[in-house]
Amino acid sequence: MSDKRDYYEVLGVSKGASESEIKKAYRKLALKYHPDKNQGDAEAEEKFKEAAEAYEVLSNAEKKARYDQFGHAGMGGAGGFGGGGMNMDDIFSQFGDIFGGAFGGGSFGGSRGRSRAVRGTNLRVKMKLTLQEIAEGVNKKIKVNKLVNAEGVTFKECSNCNGTGRITRVSQTFLGAMQTQSVCNVCQGAGKMIDKKPAEADANGLVRKEEVIEIDIPAGVMEGMQLSVTGKGNAGPMDGIPGDLIVVIEEVESDELRRDGEHLHYDAYINFVDAVLGDSIEIPTVTGKAKIKIEAGTQSGKVLRLKGKGLPIVQGYGSGDLFVHINVWTPKKVNKEEKEMLEKLRTSENFQPSPDHHDKGFFQRMKDMFS
Ligand code: ZN
Repeated sequence: MSDKRDYYEVLGVSKGASESEIKKAYRKLALKYHPDKNQGDAEAEEKFKEAAEAYEVLSNAEKKARYDQFGHAGMGGAGGFGGGGMNMDDIFSQFGDIFGGAFGGGSFGGSRGRSRAVRGTNLRVKMKLTLQEIAEGVNKKIKVNKLVNAEGVTFKECSNCNGTGRITRVSQTFLGAMQTQSVCNVCQGAGKMIDKKPAEADANGLVRKEEVIEIDIPAGVMEGMQLSVTGKGNAGPMDGIPGDLIVVIEEVESDELRRDGEHLHYDAYINFVDAVLGDSIEIPTVTGKAKIKIEAGTQSGKVLRLKGKGLPIVQGYGSGDLFVHINVWTPKKVNKEEKEMLEKLRTSENFQPSPDHHDKGFFQRMKDMFS
């Protein structure tokens, strides 16, 4: 799905790295590849963005957990899900946290890095999917009720901080004059205030609106998995950056097929005569039907493995298998005529059980199945 580098590799830290190690590693890379130091160097800019994206995820407990579990497939962003990745504004808005305090965001990036756009909140929606949709991947349109910028709202520079989003103070310390910065208490760092707004807009210039959002769900997702669509959450206050839309996957259970990771299981019932003489039967698959051959002399409990007829593996290549569990149906009642025929067979030589080593027992079959 993507050839993105592993986030831990990007930052050069181990999987067990602590929060402060991650922060330190990012700080180093951000300084090294900062655009102001690498004017016109496209490769440095890519590296800079890559590091920022890795830090975005690994510094956020929720995103990190999702990444650890599902890799890039669970992240959305540039991984083919919702597009986007991070833009420069997003990146510079991180710097308040990473270089914070005296070293503030204002030290970098000229005018673009000064004020810090306020981020909107994430929206969460649940999405029910059938096994077929999961098998093939699906494009869904969903309606969400979200905060958006009100029509006609205009913003002006915050008069308290002159649009910088920060208040700078110079104080005398034993080291000499020290400049400290804090977030502007009027605009919360956005650097903007509302100029004009329609009556229905709230204090941040936002209104609630229903919006239809199109989402590409990759094949192979699982119950409880969360996918994020960058920038499709609530709009940010004061013309800020929108939050993300988090899609929580719910799987609609199938009546016929049981899921076990990427594998599927189906219980097939065949009649006694078909088991003895052989036949072909039709079974459901996740996307339709398939015919399978029942060999003459099939024992109840036999498991047939249909390679690749399971579900796609969400992060990677290939698909799971479909296991067909054969159950020979024993009639619960018989009429007089049937009874007479069966009585004739009761003592017939071929009807006496004589399992040999080919008729593997239950435990051996389980072993084969999962090996
Ligand atoms: Zn301000």
